[in-house]
Amino acid sequence: MNRRSVLIIYTGGTIGMIQNHETGALESFNFEHLLSHVPEIKQFNLQIDAMAFEHPMDSSDMTPAEWKKLVEIISENYEKYDGFVILHGTDTMAFTSSALSFMLEGLNKPVILTGSQLPIGALRTDGKSNLITAIEIAAAKKDDGTPMVSEVCVLFHDKLFRGNRVTKIDSDNFAAFDSPNYPPLATLGTEIKYNLPIIGEYKPNAVLVTHEDMDTHIIIFSLFPGLRPEIVENVLASPDLKGILFRTFGSGNAPKNERLIETLKSAVSSGKVIVNISQCLSGYVHQERYGAGIQLVDAGVVSGRDITLEAALTKLMFLFGSGLPTEKVLQRMDESLAGEVTV
Ligand code: ASP
Repeated sequence: MNRRSVLIIYTGGTIGMIQNHETGALESFNFEHLLSHVPEIKQFNLQIDAMAFEHPMDSSDMTPAEWKKLVEIISENYEKYDGFVILHGTDTMAFTSSALSFMLEGLNKPVILTGSQLPIGALRTDGKSNLITAIEIAAAKKDDGTPMVSEVCVLFHDKLFRGNRVTKIDSDNFAAFDSPNYPPLATLGTEIKYNLPIIGEYKPNAVLVTHEDMDTHIIIFSLFPGLRPEIVENVLASPDLKGILFRTFGSGNAPKNERLIETLKSAVSSGKVIVNISQCLSGYVHQERYGAGIQLVDAGVVSGRDITLEAALTKLMFLFGSGLPTEKVLQRMDESLAGEVTV
């Protein structure tokens, strides 16, 4: 019987970093160094191959060009492997996992992103267990031979999350990620306990369709008491701007400021898409709940419901990148494309 196979793709991040003796700062190091610290993976009865970005990077330097590179690697190797593990810095991991969930349409194999808070060479590293468990999940199958998970996920510390539902919540603790509006797909203790009913359905006949163009003419702006509408006016007047993520208060509320509301209205009437997402970590945007929200409905702002900032941003990039006209983008923002929003 053929052994199951997993491809590890190393992009960089703390997991593979070592300390620069002159500056004391952590810098990316090569993949051989990383693997030499985890001889345990040889104990898996799996075919494990690895490839690395030519220049491993701090994930702060990630751009849609690197997402595209990941999509290409996965699609070129799709038939050869049962699952994929992406080693990635934690800082922008939630953006990459969200983006990949849209860029890899029809995915029916596991793509597991992981990384660590401490370098793999550190005595108390969390990198070893994250990497080992990610490999195990990438190769895991049900009794009928189908994959346990067949979606883009983030594995970190003691949980497996849906990739387009996570956000980084802690820069120090080992539990660096959470998925406030969607339960973990699996919890990791002495056993890996999969929450099967909430894991995306395996689609045996799905065909992988990759999307590589992401349109970055997007801006995120956050409300705060005292925000000056004339500054917002200047930013929203930018002719190339297509999408705006508007981070509001609570369940989707904004101040009753006529100039601000007029600015939003005129951006909408010039064909820009404005999506209301809350500054709260969890909960749902109900624009109709208060007068402070309903004025946004009247201005043409659409509700992001319970989507994360990372998923909303990459979804807009993906939809505009697909060349869709404004009405279609609006329509699809209101649908769940890859389980990123509760509709
Ligand atoms: N700055 C690092 C990165 O995102 C942090 C990490 O990996 O945890 O690449």
